This record gives sequence, structure tokens and C-alpha cells, in this order.
Amino acid sequence: MIVEPIIELRNIGKEYEDGFVALKDVNLEIESGKIYSLLGPSGSGKTTILQIIGGFSKPTTGSVLFEGKDIRSVDASKRQINTVFQNYGIFPHLDVYDNIAFGLVVRKLPKAEIDAAVKDALKMVRLEGFSDRDPAELSGGQRQRVAIARAIVTKPKVLLLDEPLSALDKRLRKDMQYELRELQKRLGITFIFVTHDQEEALAMSDEIFVLNDGQVLQSGTPVDIYDEPINHFVAEFIGDSNIVPGKMIADYQVEFVNRLFECADAGMRPNERVEVVLRPEDLDITTVEQGKIVVKVETQLFLGDHYEILGVDVDDNEWLIHSTNPTEEGKEVGLFFEPEDIHVMRFGESEEDF
Ligand code: ATP
Repeated sequence: MIVEPIIELRNIGKEYEDGFVALKDVNLEIESGKIYSLLGPSGSGKTTILQIIGGFSKPTTGSVLFEGKDIRSVDASKRQINTVFQNYGIFPHLDVYDNIAFGLVVRKLPKAEIDAAVKDALKMVRLEGFSDRDPAELSGGQRQRVAIARAIVTKPKVLLLDEPLSALDKRLRKDMQYELRELQKRLGITFIFVTHDQEEALAMSDEIFVLNDGQVLQSGTPVDIYDEPINHFVAEFIGDSNIVPGKMIADYQVEFVNRLFECADAGMRPNERVEVVLRPEDLDITTVEQGKIVVKVETQLFLGDHYEILGVDVDDNEWLIHSTNPTEEGKEVGLFFEPEDIHVMRFGESEEDF
């Protein structure tokens, strides 16, 4: 079944007035009812994309489609898309009820209709009984929920969230990750959120767009992107990884650290220069004799549910290992991994190098 995207960005470029090019040929498709994240380092263009979708910024080139129609000339307030801003944008002089009702009052809806919609929104974000509170009397997480309630009260089809959890402490952030995902499922509307936190993107999204330098480097499910990063940047940005240079020898054989290893078919040509990714959790510590690579343990940190071990091989490559069992600093150990744990990528830092 072919699903029509609810939002489509085609060949979007954005050059700011000072000549700075913030987006270069961005293409993305958003399907209805899913949760998406725009993930990338500071300055990669995440907020610019959100602003273009929301109608707060016009692209220099390309088109923005909503349900198949170009909405570039449609005013932000007329789009069925609402935004939850990073600072929440809550009016401090209005109580929770009036903050949430604001958008409906502006639209001059009947009082009874406003009342029903605000109560519904309060229920959705689990803030029943908070109507009369002033924003100053709310916790960070509650304030965030008011901002969301205000954004969903007008029943948009898409909700844009700019770093929605960045102001919260670590514990609350985790709770809100569950809450936001649950809320999105309950509402059934599309969420697109911006984050520079890879763990957050992996935990919350149905699909991730990884951005760098104004370009989408890779898109896919969290599992796809984690298991099959397209290049060095994505592999490093998403999770801890060991990345070493190598060379394809045959379809199922790759050379790295001066040794030959069996691997899954990576679709590369023999003799092609590659980079090899091995995730720390895929490396098992074994004896020197049984190891595929031998390392000397430099440091070992206990992180509660596992040990993080740093080892160095004879060529001075560093290897990060996650292990449930401790070893000893200074000891030589072997590292074992299966052929399918080896992920082979084309050599190069970014798409432009291909
Ligand atoms: P962050 O995580 O820091 O918010 P981001 O990925 O959301 O970053 P954007 O805010 O989209 O990045 O900015 C992308 C680039 O465009 C940055 O280099 C930024 O300095 C630049 N930029 C943003 N707004 C303007 C503007 N009005 N004029 C010129 N350059 C701008």
C-alpha cells in the first residue's frame, strides 16, 4: 500500500539574508500519525526546517507540500500545523486555562465550545485540576504540558516540537519521553521534533532524519540508523562506536587492523577503501588465544548496569567495549565478534565524499 505523505519537502534550500546557506537540497517525507525527529548537531539546520514547515520562514528554493498541495504562500496561522517552542511561549500573566484557551478566543469560538476543548486538552496532557494555576506555580514538566495542551487544543494534524525536553532535568526528561510518545499515540497526530540528543531520538522516534551542515545525511527507523549508519558522521553521532579504516577483499571479506575478517555482504567492490564500525556492545571479552583482536586494557569504568572498557591494540587503535563482567586494567585480552557485527561503510566523512 502506498501511503501519501502528509508533509513533503522537495529540494529545499535556505539562504539567509546575510548569504549564509543553512539548508542545501533537503528532501523529506512525513507520513501521517508517526513521530519523527530531526537530529543533528548545533547549527545543522534543524530549527530552520521546522520553521519552514511551520510557516515562520520561507525557503529560498524548493517546495513544501501539505497533503499534496504547495503551502509556501499559506500563512503560519492558517496551516493545520502547530508549534511548541523551545521556551514554551507561555504567557506568564494568564492562568493555565486562559493560556490554553488563547488560540480559540482569538478565533472567536463560542464559550461553551472553548470550554469543552480546553477541558479535553487538559485531560490529554493529564493536567485536570490545574486550570486556575499561574504558570509560575508549575514545575518544568507541567509547564511543558501546558505548552503542548495549547498547541493541540486547535486540533492540528501536525505538531512541531523544538527541543521540547531540553529545559528539563535528566530524570524528568526520561519520564517526558515516555509521556510524549504515549500522547502522540493517543492523539494519533504527526509529531516532528527537533533534538540534538541521539538517545532521545532513538528512544522516541518512528523515524529519524540525521542532519549535518544543512543536509539530510540519512533517514530511517532508529534501528536502521543505529545498525546501518551510512557514513562516519552518522556512526559517530548515533551511539558509541569503534571506527577503523579497512579495505574490501571480496564480497564477504574485509581487511582491517592488518587482518582478514569474514563479514556480511556490504555491497562494495573488492579493493574499495572502507570504514568498519564495531559497536561496543558487540565486542565480547575473551582469552588472547580466542580473540580476533588483542588489546591491552587501559581503563575500566563501572556504569551501574555494565562496564565500559577501553583497550588499545598493537597498532594503537583504541577499542571501546561494553561488558557485563569486569576485567583488569593492564591485562591483555582478546576481543571476539561475529561476522554480522561488522558494519562496513564507504570511506569518507560526509555524503559529498562519495
Ligand atoms: P541548534 O541546535 O543550535 O538550535 P539548529 O540545527 O536548529 O541548531 P538552525 O537554527 O536551523 O540550526 O541554524 C542553521 C544555521 O543557520 C546556523 O549556522 C545558524 O547560525 C544559521 N542561521 C539561523 N538563523 C539565521 C538568520 N536569521 N540569519 C543568518 N543565519 C541564520
